Amino acid sequence: MNERSTSSTTLNVVTTRYRCTACGNLTRFDVVETTSVRSFHHYTVGGDLSVEEPEVIARTIESVTCRWCGHGRGVEVISESA
Ligand SMILES: [Zn+2]
Repeated sequence: MNERSTSSTTLNVVTTRYRCTACGNLTRFDVVETTSVRSFHHYTVGGDLSVEEPEVIARTIESVTCRWCGHGRGVEVISESA
């Protein structure tokens, strides 16, 4: 088996961690985010598309929900400057 990770959307994600103060959860969250990506769409004459140079120009966290509590009322952001 080849365990190499394929080049699936590797975003330049700033390390944002969350903590649920209700249950202490640090690892399981449903995160809804909106990402705006500008990319170069390169078509061949035949109409085949290859998308190149994707660049995240905006990223908005819509909501963060604790998987264990089922709500995000106790979730807070842990800001790490590492
Ligand atoms: Zn929780």
